[in-house]
Amino acid sequence: MKQQIIVIKLGTSVLTAGGIHLHKPRMVELVRQCAELKQQGHHIVLVSSGAVAAGRSQLSQPCGDSIAQKQMLAAIGQGQLIHLWQTLFALYDIPVAQMLLTRADVEHRERYLTARDTLTQLLKHQVVPIINENDAVATSEIKVGDNDNLSAMVAILANANKLILLTDQAGLFTADPRIDPDAQLIAQVNKIDDALRALAGDSGTSLGTGGMNTKLQAADIAQRAGIETVIAKGSETNIVVKVMEQVATSTTFIRFDAPLDGRKKWLLCAPKSTGTITIDIGACEAIAMQGASLLAKGVMAVTGRFTRGDLVTITNPDGQLLAKGLCAFSEQELGMIKGCHSSDIANCLGYKASNVIVHRDDMVLL
Ligand code: GLU
Repeated sequence: MKQQIIVIKLGTSVLTAGGIHLHKPRMVELVRQCAELKQQGHHIVLVSSGAVAAGRSQLSQPCGDSIAQKQMLAAIGQGQLIHLWQTLFALYDIPVAQMLLTRADVEHRERYLTARDTLTQLLKHQVVPIINENDAVATSEIKVGDNDNLSAMVAILANANKLILLTDQAGLFTADPRIDPDAQLIAQVNKIDDALRALAGDSGTSLGTGGMNTKLQAADIAQRAGIETVIAKGSETNIVVKVMEQVATSTTFIRFDAPLDGRKKWLLCAPKSTGTITIDIGACEAIAMQGASLLAKGVMAVTGRFTRGDLVTITNPDGQLLAKGLCAFSEQELGMIKGCHSSDIANCLGYKASNVIVHRDDMVLL
């Protein structure tokens, strides 16, 4: 088997085995599998939830669920979580490292590249990076919000081959298996469409954050970046090894054959835009079918606030999401030049910053 970089996301329900405390036997078992895969030459990155749950189980009095209280619990629990991982990996003489990230760390290109370089160095030195969201400081503006999406970003940062999302379900089913006995496991997904999203529904637990919805979002990002994603059941014996041997009962999202280049992968990771550009049908076709850049002529309407170089979303006339990219103009400038021929931009503005509104190299189709 080719040596791979594998990102394994462990949800709270996996790490607590459905209970309220971190479940050490479960964690030992996962560490043993990681050690086995490392023996085979693979690199392992863990995205570990469980800080909030660990924090809660350390408090003597019950604590509510407000954002500030959860942030406090994460601050209490993160130390215990990493200490436990460190102790367990030490049984196999494997060093670990802690990286706590927020969306802000991947949104800014420079911070993104720094996080990427750190991860690369850790893997080169045979360390297992253990990553979580920096919950204690993450405000709503800068947080990713769930570790499924975070793990897709980490998979891109780590240049991973495979993303394994371990959860309390064996994968994606045709109906909710907890309610419907006829629910069938979907073994392979080629492309995530609206029908599949509708199926995913919401299967979150009270301790963790993600459900099947956020797993699909993660798989969607990973797929475009050329990374295979597998959803599998964390409680199944030897599950990670089985996934690698392709014998696990699971859902596999195949990777796209023509993955995006590095800069566009970064765009996939930084999905928060501050503005929306609505474009006409002709521009939609040019962008979707002909690989064109967005020109001023195709712009119908602009909303939100953004300055040059900010990330914007591009929608069709019905408001459906088409692409996102870095805009070469501010929303005020764009308001003045929308609908213009590119040759008239200088006349309208009194200067010309760029011929195109969003260059193709700065755009990803969604
Ligand atoms: N970062 C949270 C924690 O460590 C988990 C978020 C999630 O489960 O998606 O508890």
